[in-house]
Amino acid sequence: MRFSLILGALLMSTAAQAADWKLVIHGGAGVIERSRLKPVQEKEIRAALDRALAAGSEILAGGGSALDAVEKTVKVLEDDPNFNAGKGAVFTYEGKNELDAAIMDGRTRAAGAVTGVTMTKNPVGLARRVMENSPHVFLSREGADQFSKEQGLEQVPNSYFATPERRRQLDEMKARKVGSFDVDLKYGTVGAVALDAQGHVAAATSTGGLTGKRWARIGDSPIIGAGTYADDRACAVSATGAGEYFIREGVAHEICARLRFTGESAKAAADTVMAEVKALGGTGGVIVVTPKGETEYSFNTPGMYRGKASAEGRSVAIFGDE
Ligand code: ASP
Repeated sequence: MRFSLILGALLMSTAAQAADWKLVIHGGAGVIERSRLKPVQEKEIRAALDRALAAGSEILAGGGSALDAVEKTVKVLEDDPNFNAGKGAVFTYEGKNELDAAIMDGRTRAAGAVTGVTMTKNPVGLARRVMENSPHVFLSREGADQFSKEQGLEQVPNSYFATPERRRQLDEMKARKVGSFDVDLKYGTVGAVALDAQGHVAAATSTGGLTGKRWARIGDSPIIGAGTYADDRACAVSATGAGEYFIREGVAHEICARLRFTGESAKAAADTVMAEVKALGGTGGVIVVTPKGETEYSFNTPGMYRGKASAEGRSVAIFGDE
């Protein structure tokens, strides 16, 4: 009798805890307006966001870690050609695909990141290997490619990442002789932040960067503290937008720092930091989750591909007024 009472209490507390998991994703922010998105594209993107949420939710609902959930969720988005990460990444000026990714574990603030990788099918998986199987945090280019092979990760030819739409965008940018920031870049970087049933947070981000990037340019996404950050004492953040401004603001760390030192809500911290990015001239957005269970979006663009999941269900959105 006594035993069954204790067992009952234990089961109830596990159920209560398990109900607390959260997942938030983005698939890029930018000039995403109803008039610019064909209905079929819109449908495809909503379905893709939902698939990614479903994959991460399965892990979290089963009691899995936030870290596993963000990695899996981002992999689903990397495999989808609609987003600027993995397959479907934007082209460099030279017509190649060079990929950036990062992952961070809020429990220990362990982090892994890669930039300019060219052959790893899922760059977020490589970032996780850097975190767990190397003494380093950040690897670049040929060295990162080499480490990926040594780790036995799935390798693909660089042409695997290419899509006709991204080629068209590069051609258009070159024809109009404009810079990466002047064109409608159709930002499509992907990211996920999660809170697991054990109360831990994690973040992951993956991107091809900016259309027509040159000179081995690195954006904010793989820079720990700029595009990606996770800290159980504060929150987990993944960003998307004009990376140069996010680096200068230190966006992801800045939001976490505000949470630790000001006691304000996640929404207030994210909105303040995004307003500061805007004041510098930068556009984009962030997703945030806190150990308390707050889940927030904040963006200063017309739209952001985004979604949320919890034990209560899943929802996706694209336009600013949703
Ligand atoms: N933040 C990414 C970068 O600057 C681009 C994006 O989010 O679309 O590389």
